[in-house]
Amino acid sequence: MSQIFDSIVVGGGLLGSALAWMLAKDGASVVLLERDQLNQHASGQNAGSLHFQLEYRMVEHGLEAARQAAEAMPLHLEAAALWEQLGAELGESVGVEQNGGLMLAETAEQAAVLERKAELERSWGLDVELLDGDEVRMLAPYLSDSVVAAAYCPIEGKADTRRAGPALARGAIRHGAQVRTRTEVTAIRRDGAFWRVQTESAGADGRVRREEFRASTVMLAGGVWTSQLGSMLGVSLATIPLALTMSVTAKTPKFIPHLVQHAGTRLSLKQSSDGNVLIGGGWPARLPLNESMEPDLAARPELITESVIGNAAAAIGVVPALAPLPVLRTWVGTTTVTPDQLPLAGEVPGLPGIFVATGGSAFTLGPSFARALTDLAHGRGASIDMAPYQPLRFGGNNNVA
Ligand SMILES: Cc1cc2nc3c(=O)[nH]c(=O)nc-3n(C[C@H](O)[C@H](O)[C@H](O)COP(=O)(O)OP(=O)(O)OC[C@H]3O[C@@H](n4cnc5c(N)ncnc54)[C@H](O)[C@@H]3O)c2cc1C
Repeated sequence: MSQIFDSIVVGGGLLGSALAWMLAKDGASVVLLERDQLNQHASGQNAGSLHFQLEYRMVEHGLEAARQAAEAMPLHLEAAALWEQLGAELGESVGVEQNGGLMLAETAEQAAVLERKAELERSWGLDVELLDGDEVRMLAPYLSDSVVAAAYCPIEGKADTRRAGPALARGAIRHGAQVRTRTEVTAIRRDGAFWRVQTESAGADGRVRREEFRASTVMLAGGVWTSQLGSMLGVSLATIPLALTMSVTAKTPKFIPHLVQHAGTRLSLKQSSDGNVLIGGGWPARLPLNESMEPDLAARPELITESVIGNAAAAIGVVPALAPLPVLRTWVGTTTVTPDQLPLAGEVPGLPGIFVATGGSAFTLGPSFARALTDLAHGRGASIDMAPYQPLRFGGNNNVA
């Protein structure tokens, strides 16, 4: 017997939990299906940066690539507002601090990148100010004398990756959503007005338990497994998996209130509410390959020592006080990007009622994705033009229903 809901959410990361919360708050009956535990993958492993400026990976390939990446700015601007009110709406803190973000330049060339970047961002309505070296150190005395300029965005900041996803899931449950963990979606198919979603989970007796859920809308919030979910529907949702490295230092008295990034190297750093400094910014880990020589998403990525060293050197280069601090832990996680740096987000053409969102800084964008998909599912039309993020824009429609 199928269990019938208005919406089925596949995936219990930040996005799936935000979707379940917003849909249920809107009055929909919702079930969230998560194969593992909530927040166990990218949403619980990431750096927690709330990025509203273009990131290094978006500016390192020149102005044209930056222009394209900037098309996601409306989603970022909405995310800034949604994160700001999230804790109050959920009735519990999700560790949001929007104390401002600095993107640093240590050379005249990097300073010129910041100028072009700020001009582009302002054209989309983002508040970004250019500071010279002295102005930067007035605002952020912890920075090295090597910093010659910075772009300052007052709304940037961070959220607590350990709290945000679970708090959203708790909010969803309070609004009546069901959350089923250890429940893997194995097939999705159309049946008249409904989508039928089949699952497998281990029963109390250890036997595999198969169930079926029906709904008129299905939200694919599978993160790096989005392409696998697409293949269940006969469409190619083109995402590129990327394994990344993070490190965290021992606690130290608070001295970094900002999100710090760099215009010339991979770096993001911030200090947690407990005093630990989180260091990341896109240094790669190694994704093992499977027998078909494709990335094996079931395998744990392997740490690359040079990444840890390079990341630490970039951090110490601009924040010298980090040098004596021991690194407590280094870890890796896998996320998705797309060939044009823009997200895949919206209803999948040819599959009415199937919605998807993934790609890029999707921790930052989770609330915006959830808002847009909820509005579309409930026939309201998204407040943002979703055309640039059309999920099949890379031509991957194999088998439209
Ligand atoms: C090291 C690192 C640092 C990062 N730093 C930042 C940052 O600072 N800021 C930022 O904005 N972004 C950052 N990101 C990216 C960000 O973490 C992800 O984009 C975001 O967390 C994706 O959220 P999600 O809910 O879509 O995916 P996930 O958190 O990966 O959740 C997807 C869930 O779907 C489940 N699932 C998949 N297939 C199935 C199935 N068949 N059945 C049931 N469940 C299924 C998975 O088990 C998983 O729990 C970083 C990523 C990494 C790895």
